Order: sequence, then structure tokens, then C-alpha cells
Amino acid sequence: MEAKSNTHFETNAIRTQMERSSFAEHSSPLHLTSSFVFEDAEEMRASFAEEKQNAIYSRFSNPNTSEFIQKVAQMELAEDGVAFASGMGAVFATFATFLAAGDHLLSSRAVFGSTHALITKYLPKWNIETTYFNTDQIQDLEFLLQENTRCIYIESPTNPGVDILDLETLGDFAQKHNLLFIVDNCFATPYLQQPIRFGADLVIHSATKLMDGQGRVLGGITVGKKELIRELYLFARNTGASLSPFNAWVLSKSLETLAVRVDRHCQTALTLAQKIETHPKVNWIKYPFLPSHPQYQLARKQMKQGGSIISFEIKGGLHAGKTFINSIKLCSLSANLGDSRSIITHPASTTHSKLSEAEQLEVGITPGMIRLSVGLEHHEDLWNDLKNALDAKV
Ligand SMILES: *Cc1c(COP(=O)(O)O)cnc(C)c1O
Repeated sequence: MEAKSNTHFETNAIRTQMERSSFAEHSSPLHLTSSFVFEDAEEMRASFAEEKQNAIYSRFSNPNTSEFIQKVAQMELAEDGVAFASGMGAVFATFATFLAAGDHLLSSRAVFGSTHALITKYLPKWNIETTYFNTDQIQDLEFLLQENTRCIYIESPTNPGVDILDLETLGDFAQKHNLLFIVDNCFATPYLQQPIRFGADLVIHSATKLMDGQGRVLGGITVGKKELIRELYLFARNTGASLSPFNAWVLSKSLETLAVRVDRHCQTALTLAQKIETHPKVNWIKYPFLPSHPQYQLARKQMKQGGSIISFEIKGGLHAGKTFINSIKLCSLSANLGDSRSIITHPASTTHSKLSEAEQLEVGITPGMIRLSVGLEHHEDLWNDLKNALDAKV
């Protein structure tokens, strides 16, 4: 594996590649194989003893998953990583590796729907308790600490409220109290934000979103320091949520264009956010790089651009929200995000429908709220679609 360290993000994303085979291929080939062969008994012994770094079995490692891991680790300023079949595979394996029965987790309240289910329904089965904190409590977390607090878990920007959490404050807090600081960096991507700069120990991604960026494959990854990744790797290879080599190959190719894609996602999102903000039917809008965002200064400090997700509320509540969605013609109605196709979601009835109305409000979801994942279509066509739907008679 060839890694470049003195070159830029975009260059590394393209030029970090597995070694060429005897065919001297230019683009990395796909190694669709479940296992690998050995020359003799000694090589087999040395491979299992990890004296040799060659692949044994694709649940353990594969050249395509290794290439994907190395690219993401490099992008996130991490030493190493483990790839998973999905983002939730990464979240679950990370919790299961670093939390034990009797431990306590501090988590931001606004987390991805399935992460919320994992925290509230399954972790308690193994006697792991969680305290949620709100975005505005970050300066004052000390009183939530317990003897047995081990980890602090967050997402920023949050889904779907697009709130920004102060990574530096949280990183300092985690270090002071010897907590493992875990960040789901899915919404930002490593191109816009690198949580390790602010003290994160482990960074998680759903690679399904902007890393693939074209809505084709599921994948997940956790990256961090070598010794932590070693523990996670052993859990992962014994429990089996491994990323398929095919998906790793797709994702690794996609990372070559991450920077240009995310640049365009962000440009278009900012253009649309500015237009949505002035429409008379819009109650409020949140986009991290709009000066009206409550954490605008913080977003400018820790993110390179504002990302691809906009949330806004249409005047007139649930009924007006439904009229808007039913009037959309170009954008897709789907629960995914981070796709080349723009996607409209109604969080209250879909991604976060398992939360009670009170819980929804606590994470910033109102009945008429819309989440827009801005894709790569031309911004004028997107605005025409949105404006037409906003103008629709309720
Ligand atoms: C989608 C998502 C996940 C889960 O990823 P999957 O690949 O769908 O399993 C986790 N965190 C965030 C923030 C997400 O958006």
C-alpha cells in the first residue's frame, strides 16, 4: 500500500492505492475473493501469527477494504481504521468494544435514529446506561459525569436539526476526565471537518452517505489511534459485520472525487439556503454557513464549508409540510442523504418517527420541518422545484 503524506487531501484521496499486480493496472482492481492462499506451512503459520501482513480471509482483511481504510484514515488524520458493512455496524462495534457492563455513556441527544435505538433499547440489556445532553449544555457537562462514565458520543452537524457542537470544548472535557471521545462525522465528511484535530479519539462514518455519494452501496468505518483500532479490529473480525470487498472498491473509487463533489454540494446548498431563507412561506431555516444559524461562528471555526444538509420549517405545520412535499417534482422523496440526487425528507414521519413528540422537539424536530439533502443537480433547477413547491396553495 502506497501512502503519500507530504501531499494534499485531494491528491492523497486519488494516489493512495494498493500495490499494482503483475498486470500493472492503473485503477485499483477488485479482489472479489473470500480467502487467500499460502505458499507453504511456514507462510501459513507466519500469517496467522501476524508476523506477515498478508491477507488470510476477507472477514479479517482484504486489499480493497485495506485501501479504503487507509484512505479514510489519512483523510481523518488517524493512524488506522476498521471498515464495516454499514455505518450502524461501525457504531455498534465501537460501543461494544469500548463499553462494558456497568459503564456509563454520555451522548448528545441529537443522534441518528438507529443510534438512538441502540442506546435506548439495546445498551441497557448489557447494563450500559446513557445520559443524554442537549446542545446548549456543552459548557456545563461536569454535573452529568459519573464514576463509571467511559465515553462521550456526538454528531456534528446533527441530524436532522443541523446544530453544531463545539468539538474543541468537548475534546478538552474528554481529555480532562479521561473519557473516550467518539464523533460520528458522517454529515461533515473529513473534507469539511477533522474531529481528531479537536481531540476526538475515534471517528465514525456511515460511508453510505457522502463517501459513496451516489446512493449505491452501504458501508461504515471507524478510525483512530492504532492501539484502539487494534481492539476494535479484533472485535470486528470475530463478530462479522465486515465490509464487502466490492463495496470497499466502490467506496475507494468514490473517495477520489469526494473533495470536488462536496465542494459542489456545499456551494449549491449555500445558494439554495439563501433563497429559501427569504421565501415568505418559510418559518425558519438552519444551514451552518448562513449567518442566521445560532452557531454560525462555531461552524466557521470548525468546518471548511457548511455541508449539504439544510433544515427548514414551512409555515402552517404538518398540513403545509405535506402540501410542500406533494408538490415537489425533481427532488426525490427518500430517507437517504448525501446522494448526487437531492432528497427531501420529513423527519417527524420517517427517520425519527420512533421518537415521541416531546423527544422529537428536544432534538429540534417540529411537525412541519423538512430536511433537504442537496445533491449535484444544477442549482437553478433545484430552486425552481423548491420555489414551485413553496408557492403551492395549501
Ligand atoms: C446514515 C447514518 C448512520 C448509519 O449508517 P448506515 O450506513 O445507514 O448504517 C449513522 N450516523 C449518521 C449520522 C447517519 O446519517
